[in-house]
Amino acid sequence: MSGLVVRGGALWTGWHLYPSGAVWAEDGEIRFAGDARDLPGEARGVEVDASGGVVIPGLVNLHTHAAMTLMRAAAEDLPLMRWLNERIWPAEERFEPGDVRVGTQLACMELVASGTTVLCDMYLAMDEVAEAVAQAGIRGVLARGLADVDPSAGERALAESEAFFARWHGAAEGRIQVMLGPHAPYTCSPAYLRRVGELALRLGAGVHMHVSETLEEVESTRAAHGMTPVEMLRATGLDRCRLLLAHVTHPTPEDDVILAGLTGGVAHCPVSNLKLATGIAPVVRLRQAGVRVGLGTDGAGSATSLDMFPTIRLAALTAKVTTGDAGALPAREVLAMATREGARVLGLEDRIGTLEAGKRCDLAVVSLDRPGLEPAGDVLSLLVHGVTGQDVAVTVCDGRVVYDHGRFPGVDPGPVTAAARRIQARITAGA
Ligand SMILES: [Zn+2]
Repeated sequence: MSGLVVRGGALWTGWHLYPSGAVWAEDGEIRFAGDARDLPGEARGVEVDASGGVVIPGLVNLHTHAAMTLMRAAAEDLPLMRWLNERIWPAEERFEPGDVRVGTQLACMELVASGTTVLCDMYLAMDEVAEAVAQAGIRGVLARGLADVDPSAGERALAESEAFFARWHGAAEGRIQVMLGPHAPYTCSPAYLRRVGELALRLGAGVHMHVSETLEEVESTRAAHGMTPVEMLRATGLDRCRLLLAHVTHPTPEDDVILAGLTGGVAHCPVSNLKLATGIAPVVRLRQAGVRVGLGTDGAGSATSLDMFPTIRLAALTAKVTTGDAGALPAREVLAMATREGARVLGLEDRIGTLEAGKRCDLAVVSLDRPGLEPAGDVLSLLVHGVTGQDVAVTVCDGRVVYDHGRFPGVDPGPVTAAARRIQARITAGA
């Protein structure tokens, strides 16, 4: 690998905004990020022109089911349990080997084309996911979904998770991390969750789980186990692990205290929550309680799009309207949630999440050169309330250009999208 120099535009490092900035990386590590006038003279390498735009840290998508691109716009206007039972789970049973790879390849293209450099994925056929992530050049925090509704399948999935960890944790030059992925309190028994936690501690792996996604889930968990889903994390010992908790739309005030004491945090997914009408996490309250909150899209089966910009925008807008406070989640804070706070939830804040010397070079160049984004005014506010993923011109992950003005170096999108169309027709036939 060699050097990379990004210059010509504004730079938001995650902390500071430079009207004219520059970033220089060598072997994927940032050597300099700051005012373009201070760029060291020895900076050399692949030149990325950010003129007319702003350079931002790569976006951290804390919650995906990447291959659900195959279910995009194919299961609409249904509440969560009908959506799962009637559409998603039957479609997943029709998967053939290779389908998940195609769906994940398509997802990775969509992600890097909209400025995302990390996906946190929970799904099945995870070797196919990992291979697609490695090939796309993106960073992946990957978890095989676990459930013990069928106890023997639960046992197999646990064994597969351990083998998957051994094969892929730290792979792809360190771009892939492996977590354990217990699906949800309504698909995992407390005894199973306890075993997941013990395995996670033994491996040193984090745990990615859906928690308190719907009010029904909170009520049924209370009825069955006498506690909330968040309290169940403590009762089963999962709270001793690093936790990545998707949704948490219905925490009680007592849950807030437990959540604030965790290593890890919450993946707030407002697009998916709004579309499935499950509620909206009280993000301002959670943050005030000391809970780390990052952002995720969820899968394209529910969210339709893996573009993080609508998620960023809706996180800001829903925080404002639910609190009645126009000052809630200002642009600087919601952008931090999509970058450095996401990295903190994952425990990767020493490596990614901001553009600073010593960190890995994950960034996106966002073009502001179109009528809807001119004149720029407050650039950070524009990033939240005006920009879409379509405005991303170039994405760099680990010092390599992975997306450049409609092109994906080393990847031909044509065959992938054609295969994805065929798979969608097969798995949704008769639905
Ligand atoms: Zn999910």
